Amino acid sequence: MEKEDVINRKDSFVMSYEHLAIFIPVQIEFIRANKLHPNFPKDMFQQLAIMQEEAGEVTKAVLDYHFGKDTIEHVREELIQTAAMCVRMLQNLPK
Ligand SMILES: [Mg+2]
Repeated sequence: MEKEDVINRKDSFVMSYEHLAIFIPVQIEFIRANKLHPNFPKDMFQQLAIMQEEAGEVTKAVLDYHFGKDTIEHVREELIQTAAMCVRMLQNLPK
């Protein structure tokens, strides 16, 4: 097992430090968003609109970063928020 593979239970699941550093902030944002907005819509198109609104904020942050008016940390923050909304949609997919 590679040193950077920090989770490896019965060889069924492996996640690198690099991926943990991505997924843990997404999970923290997912929990924050659930507390802040506990009533996630049931309608998939409304869910999509919320996720796309976050993705639009990524677009703005990237453009602003490109033209020197924003930071890469803000791009990362908006990506994490978008990823959290993707997780929320995934969690709410029809069974
Ligand atoms: Mg956002």
